[in-house]
Amino acid sequence: MRIDRHRLAALLSAEQRRFTEANGASLALFERAKQSLHRGVPMPWMTQWASPFPLFIEGGKGARLRDADGHSYIDFCLGDTGALFGHSPTPVVEALAERAGDGMTFMLPNQDAIHVGEALTARFGLPHWQFALSATDANRFAIKIARSVTGRRRVLLFNGCYHGSLDETLAHLENGVMRAGPANMGPGIEVAETSRMVEFNDIAAVEAALAEGDVACVLCEPALTNSGLVFPQPGFHEALRAATRDHGVMLIIDETHSICAGPGGGVGEYGLEPDLITLGKPLAGGVPAAVYGYSSAVGERIAAWLDGLDSFVTGIGGTLSGNALAMAAMRASLDHVMTEAAYDHMTTQAERLRCGVAEIIAGYGLSWGVARLGARVEYRWGRGAPANATEALGDADPELDRLFRLFFLNRGIMLTIFYNVALVSPVTSAADIDRHNTVFDEFAHAVTGA
Ligand code: PMP
Repeated sequence: MRIDRHRLAALLSAEQRRFTEANGASLALFERAKQSLHRGVPMPWMTQWASPFPLFIEGGKGARLRDADGHSYIDFCLGDTGALFGHSPTPVVEALAERAGDGMTFMLPNQDAIHVGEALTARFGLPHWQFALSATDANRFAIKIARSVTGRRRVLLFNGCYHGSLDETLAHLENGVMRAGPANMGPGIEVAETSRMVEFNDIAAVEAALAEGDVACVLCEPALTNSGLVFPQPGFHEALRAATRDHGVMLIIDETHSICAGPGGGVGEYGLEPDLITLGKPLAGGVPAAVYGYSSAVGERIAAWLDGLDSFVTGIGGTLSGNALAMAAMRASLDHVMTEAAYDHMTTQAERLRCGVAEIIAGYGLSWGVARLGARVEYRWGRGAPANATEALGDADPELDRLFRLFFLNRGIMLTIFYNVALVSPVTSAADIDRHNTVFDEFAHAVTGA
């Protein structure tokens, strides 16, 4: 069915008016914030929400958020995975309260750290774990390790990836040629000198890039999540692993989003055998923390290098990287929040959401699609299963995106800011899912005029 663009424009203006009328307190706070925060927000991207101005948040618990105007939202954004397991899960809150009153950072290990290391090894198989404050940092450290181990410089990436604010990774393919993304502010070194980029699922292109002999590592997600959901085709990961081994290239798997797939993330879901794993966002229940893990072979190389150093500055990590507060939160999260039972609930409810949306799409005769990876459900403005980001982004419709997200927000449902995704937490109820699907039906009704 063709969507009438005049209708979309009219709907968007109506939704913008509705938002502005309902959110006077957030608007006033935004105006005040502009006096001290650049553009009124703590980070520039916070102005990119679909709403005319950002909501100011008072608090959140479980799958609910409250804003400054007293509205309550069912939260399917969940801090873009940072709160995937719900806001302020009780075991994490209790562990934080206990730790906070008894010292938060020591520059020495404690028992929580051992516990976290053991739990990560049990989940992901790798024997060595270290800590960072964000997934961006964990990826930065993993790349440095790969460069150090291989003596090569370049990172091989897949088009459409996002791995954090790393100069090496903020690039995309334009007609097959890699270009620095416009959002890559002031890179120290041109991306053309640090990176190579090919399409996901294109093993011939991977082989050709690795054959150049200058690639230190492949940095990739098990399935692409930042340009729509793009799943690995059968045999892709096996071929990628074989090619990286053949060329002596480190395989780094970034689990930051694919941790939605199950307790062992995408590594568990697809049976991957990476040299390094990175993971951030939800691991400490919302407290800044991330980890990177590596194989014994990588561990031996790092140990040999460390033994030869007479300096304690390694170019990796920082004072707060292994802080005790984050350790306490990670321990509580791994033991009591990110459990099998939690994942069972998340995937069951995410499947309820996916089925409901698929039925509505079919009912309106729309050529849209919906896909799921564990607790992550993604809507697409096209049918079919894209093999790579270029195909996935072929269905992009920024106008529809904006209306879609604002329409939901005005009806008490928070969706993610950058993509058309709903995340389902262990405390998202069947009633929450049904409310989401009712609003999806209203949205389909509104845009089709059916
Ligand atoms: N890896 C992936 C796959 C991501 O999607 C993101 C952020 N969306 C990051 C890393 C970076 O996470 P952070 O901004 O928390 O450092």
